[in-house]
Amino acid sequence: MKPSYSSIGELEAAIVSCRACPRLVHYRENLEPRASYASQVYWRKPVPGFGDLDGKLLVLGLAPASHGAERTGRIFTGDASSRFLVKALHAAGFANQPVSESRDDGLAYSGCYITAVVKCVPPGDRPTREEFASCSPFLDAEVSLMQNLEGVLALGSLAFGAYVSHLARAGGDARGMRFAHGAVYRVKGGPTLYAGYHPSPRNTNTGRLTMPMLVALLKKIRRDLRI
Ligand code: SF4
Repeated sequence: MKPSYSSIGELEAAIVSCRACPRLVHYRENLEPRASYASQVYWRKPVPGFGDLDGKLLVLGLAPASHGAERTGRIFTGDASSRFLVKALHAAGFANQPVSESRDDGLAYSGCYITAVVKCVPPGDRPTREEFASCSPFLDAEVSLMQNLEGVLALGSLAFGAYVSHLARAGGDARGMRFAHGAVYRVKGGPTLYAGYHPSPRNTNTGRLTMPMLVALLKKIRRDLRI
């Protein structure tokens, strides 16, 4: 039987103490700090979601970054991807500030909650099939705790695929869903699924994903969901 969580606090406690994936536990606990962060104590634990659980939008990334969320302890905080995403979220009205650097930086989201499919950083940003499966109950629980959920923005094809798997687990019709930036899938009886490129440097430094592209997508979602 799947575990159920009556509150976000209970779920976060379960996530942060999880040691179900031996490879990821070993990797996160042995992360070598970057020279520029040598004086900091890395988080080195699973990273739960963050934001407005009563919001209509769930933003879904793949996993914490080694020197971002696995350092700071908050999802999409303290690395290049986070800076790009949060600047865009602020421009689209979902964040109270354009900066996401540390857990105590004052960032607050309104209308959206942000999480990762896999809560521990994987080597090479590639979780195994077993690790996706092990972590999936946590994503299912986050989705079920979002009582007003009307839209999901999956960042990157792996997060998109993981959400499609979530839909299948939940008994939804996930046939024919393919990742493409800007793709929109209306899901019968569930939140609309939006796809967008992940704001990683490999996309943003090459111009595959620009700030205007991401802001436009977020603003379109706002309009669609009447946020
Ligand atoms: S990836 Fe998920 S299931 Fe695996 S150890 Fe981290 S929190 Fe637990």
